[in-house]
Amino acid sequence: MLLLVLAALTGTSFAQAQPPPSLLLLRPAAVFDGETLHPGWVVLVDQNRIKAVGPAAQLPAPAGARTLELPGLTLLPGLIEGHAHLLLHPYNETTWNDQVLTESVALRVARATTHARRTLEAGFTTVRDLGSEGAGYADVGLKQAIDQGIIPGPRLLIATRALVASGSYGPKLNSDLDLPQGAQEADGPEGLMRAVREQIGKGADIIKVYADYRWGPDEPARPTFSQEELTLAVQTARAAGRPVVAHASTPEGMRRATLAGVQTIEHGDGGTLEIFKLMQQRGVALCPTVAAGDAVSQYRGWQKGQQPEPERLLQKRQSMKAALQSGVPLAFGGDVGVFAHGDNVREAELLVQEYGLSPLAVVRGFTSQNARIFQLNDRGRIQPGLLADLIAVSGDPTQDIAALRRVQWVMKDGKIVKE
Ligand SMILES: [Zn+2]
Repeated sequence: MLLLVLAALTGTSFAQAQPPPSLLLLRPAAVFDGETLHPGWVVLVDQNRIKAVGPAAQLPAPAGARTLELPGLTLLPGLIEGHAHLLLHPYNETTWNDQVLTESVALRVARATTHARRTLEAGFTTVRDLGSEGAGYADVGLKQAIDQGIIPGPRLLIATRALVASGSYGPKLNSDLDLPQGAQEADGPEGLMRAVREQIGKGADIIKVYADYRWGPDEPARPTFSQEELTLAVQTARAAGRPVVAHASTPEGMRRATLAGVQTIEHGDGGTLEIFKLMQQRGVALCPTVAAGDAVSQYRGWQKGQQPEPERLLQKRQSMKAALQSGVPLAFGGDVGVFAHGDNVREAELLVQEYGLSPLAVVRGFTSQNARIFQLNDRGRIQPGLLADLIAVSGDPTQDIAALRRVQWVMKDGKIVKE
């Protein structure tokens, strides 16, 4: 309507006032479609969707299409971060306790806007954000600000406040005070059902439960919620079309979460072959977050490369060996926020360099496999009809995982956000 009025006022013809052609042909050196590398392929984008993909010879630019040359670059689906907290910043800057207790929500949101931009510029066009960690429902507004184009950032799947059993989480500094907690406390069938529904009503895409945690400051993690509580949480969330993800690192916490039917288990540091086999049988994925433990160990003084690995990492090595042996499906995410946002690729590098995964498996993991596990059927691969969330990196990440650090170009929802 406005265009027509303007055309009439200025005397320009309607044809000249039309927007530029919506078709864009991308010509990289190779296309990784989420599964396989295809040298010499091109991709045709129509507005915010992928229209076609194939060998350059079979896919000439249609009339009116623009062409973008991406020489020397590999085009791949926008990466999917499986585990982040945009409302946290690295613990060597400020401890988790201090972030929860002394930083205002306004300060935390201001930081989060920067975190969101850095994450997108690092090639991560979708992020599972697994808990606001004391910042209430700030992730709901953050997601809205991104979706409304107010700030740049990835597409978010948010867990809002997350759920913990009363007394199990933190901060725990003074028994005389009721300190604000890093997550919402809920107990018993009625309490859990109510809290799950409340969080969904406020905007949660995902329900996150802490199935185990250390009850005291210097003790190992132990189970928190009962089997009955976890099962009910999953049933309540599932009825509303939301998956449940569980933080768990003990065999018993992982077992209960698996039997309850969660979508993924986060961390799983103390997992055994038996538990991973149970997860595999039940179709529950493990998101091992190896980068978090690596970062925290260094914050505690471990000099990587100069000192032997601390006990915690030796145990992680053992449990990852069991996980890989069991065939449990892996989800890929680093628990970003523990370390710097935008440095998400750290998880990918560690999985290749220290845990023996192939670069191809990890690149598939952060694209098509994460999409499949998180049930995001509109992304994670380069196929006609899927969202035009695409990135270009220099080099071949299926051979050299460090290529994922060389993100030269990012498109989200058909719009170029980095070039
Ligand atoms: Zn986390």
